[in-house]
Amino acid sequence: MKTKIYIKLTYLSKNNKKEIDSIFSSYEFNGIIYGSEFCDNYTFQLEEFDRKKELFYNTPIFITSRNSDQIYQNIVLLNQISKKFRVIIHDFGLLQELKLKGMIDLVILGRFFFNRQFSFNKHLLNMLIGEGIKSIEIDAKNFGKIRVIKQNNFETFYQLFHSKIVTFARSCYLRTITGKDCTPKSRLCEKMNEIKLKNPYICLDVGGHHLFLGFNQNFNKFLEYQQYCDNVILEFPKKRADIDQFLKILNILQ
Ligand SMILES: [Zn+2]
Repeated sequence: MKTKIYIKLTYLSKNNKKEIDSIFSSYEFNGIIYGSEFCDNYTFQLEEFDRKKELFYNTPIFITSRNSDQIYQNIVLLNQISKKFRVIIHDFGLLQELKLKGMIDLVILGRFFFNRQFSFNKHLLNMLIGEGIKSIEIDAKNFGKIRVIKQNNFETFYQLFHSKIVTFARSCYLRTITGKDCTPKSRLCEKMNEIKLKNPYICLDVGGHHLFLGFNQNFNKFLEYQQYCDNVILEFPKKRADIDQFLKILNILQ
């Protein structure tokens, strides 16, 4: 089975169409992922989207009455734009809303379900099947679970560039630090998201509602479990060197 590869454009800044073109001309990706778990304002320009590719919308973790209507409208709009649209969700309320609207087939259950849900058992999987979930995203923090998920006939998505969450906050960290608002125009989170640490293999990321430690990738771990990964999600361009290295490994294998 050939692993499908999706590219997440979270860290792409507004005006780097050149970078998008460069990476898309270098590799054959199956689709792109719009939006971030951590900040509503992390998005790319949709005019730049190649409509033949699959389009996913990664919805934010924090959905409140402030942004819930907007997020639902984004889903409806993106579903119209792309014939191959799906939505990654991390929130039970949104899951229920999409189920009621007959859109459950679009849903990929996001990785933060399993970062919040510490126990993992057959009853939980049965509940997800009952809710109509067919696809699940996992990151390296929960990598060992991917085998069980696959064995229970879910389609699996693996987010390769994982990070260890230090903490979440209800309001944007950067807003607290700078006193400025992160808006679709200011895109505050995009400008300040990495604090270099002494250890060159780890960085502290500050963006939106989270603080996390980024680690170098463990490709051997991925290879060990690759048979259970139907799809892989990569982030760009923050880890461009990692992407190059990873794709070389995949190309050798396929
Ligand atoms: Zn932000």
